[in-house]
Amino acid sequence: MVSRVIPVDNFDLVIFGGTGDLARRKIFPGLYRRFLAGQMNVDSRIIGAARAKYSDDEFRAFIEAALVEFVAKDRQDPAQIAAFLARLHYVAVDAKEEGGWELLKSTLRQNVVRAFYFSVAPSIFPDLAERLHSHGITDAWSRIVVEKPFGRDLASARALNEVLAKYFTEAQIYRIDHYLGKETVQNLMAVRFANILFEPIWKAQYIDHVQITVGETVSVNGRGAYYDKSGAMRDMVQNHLMQLLCLIAMEPPYHFDPDAVRDEKVKVIRALQPVPPQNIVRGQYLAGNGEGGYLEHCEDANSKTESYIAMKVEIANWRWKGTPFYLRTGKRLRARSSEIAIHFKEPPHSIFDGEKGWKENVLVIRLQPNEGMNLMVMIKEPGPGGMRLMQVPLDMTFADALGVEAEDVPDAYERLIMDVIRGNQTLFMRGDEVEAAWAWTDPIINGWESRGDKPQGYDPGSSGPEDALMLMHRDGRRWREIK
Ligand code: NAP
Repeated sequence: MVSRVIPVDNFDLVIFGGTGDLARRKIFPGLYRRFLAGQMNVDSRIIGAARAKYSDDEFRAFIEAALVEFVAKDRQDPAQIAAFLARLHYVAVDAKEEGGWELLKSTLRQNVVRAFYFSVAPSIFPDLAERLHSHGITDAWSRIVVEKPFGRDLASARALNEVLAKYFTEAQIYRIDHYLGKETVQNLMAVRFANILFEPIWKAQYIDHVQITVGETVSVNGRGAYYDKSGAMRDMVQNHLMQLLCLIAMEPPYHFDPDAVRDEKVKVIRALQPVPPQNIVRGQYLAGNGEGGYLEHCEDANSKTESYIAMKVEIANWRWKGTPFYLRTGKRLRARSSEIAIHFKEPPHSIFDGEKGWKENVLVIRLQPNEGMNLMVMIKEPGPGGMRLMQVPLDMTFADALGVEAEDVPDAYERLIMDVIRGNQTLFMRGDEVEAAWAWTDPIINGWESRGDKPQGYDPGSSGPEDALMLMHRDGRRWREIK
């Protein structure tokens, strides 16, 4: 089945930070794939902007090299690449200086969608917003895309919201969290709200617990000093894991409409309980497998920043009272693997006396690798010899089930950028949502800092610190294997 491509309106998209790492690895390759799929109007233009002095042609050559490096070989069609590159322009601007802005203004066309992607360090988001406004570059149709991190605590997130609100309405601000652009994450909403099957049992009465895991194999080597200022809680939990938790826990919105969905997500965040220290395990990876440990990589032998965190989170509302959500994420783990696992309760009564094979139903939503869903169900083991039970997966790996080639499934960034052009904010975070997430996160981080808590070491290639296992064991549960 070939996925249906609905072209978007003609646009001018300015990528501030167009020469940066994110632009090279994700944004331009993603836009090229949308161009190749026929989703970009052929008159649309993308304007790279940064301080480096490039001509249009030099910038095109720079992006061509990025496409060769980051687009799958079988999607590299020289004629299409040339046609895509012809849509690119470049303007040198410095967010902190005046030069270049009038040229940028004159480069943009009237009567097409204008979008400005802030793919630069967060410290210059306010400068960009202010200069776009003071040079009269934005109009009521303009929209801005703001990269993460959105603040490092409630006060800084609130301050950033206030600055942006001076120049843009909330409907013009797209705070990006690329986890929300993943096919499976959106499918989670379809599975929950387009089927009658799950919703009646989607509650504490039937769900024992939920596990959300985002495992990475990479270390922070090369960007340790930067990472050390955030850590796993700020870098992953406050945004990505929180968004996943919200989509599982939220009530059905009245409509698949940006504010209806985001209203429900905010309610979940506000219902999150404070997390006591005994329900959190933090870790730092040790040296091993030929690489240094976290403390070497962050260049601070006394760092107390976590490269791993596991926590038990409780939601105080009617639906979830009594069903814990266990979250964990970390660097240098056994595998690069992200999944949500919904563990259902035992049937109230077993009719299969003495049957040992029973396991709980689990709905596994895999974000990577192999995006897809699995429902683990019990069946009779085939063959004679009495009633023996076994667990099998009802597998729904999208690429296999739908006959879609992996390359045809849009990457999260490209999907979200197309949503920006369409003016659809459903998969972007609203200002109050981000603030509510920090309001929950701040006291947890402040607690570690005031107590001087130190993370526990864990071996690279493992599934995290020993204490994280205990967090589950003491509740009579265990983590799913990271593989
Ligand atoms: P990067 O590689 O350091 O690139 C920064 C970009 O900003 C460069 O193009 C730089 O070009 C430009 N820039 C710096 N100062 C500027 C100024 N005063 N005025 C105008 N442009 C300026 O950073 P990145 O990794 O691409 O990250 C960009 C943003 O995305 C950050 O907010 C980051 O947190 C976020 N993000 C990145 C990733 C990733 O995988 N890289 C993932 C998630 C989120 P010049 O030096 O030529 O000006």
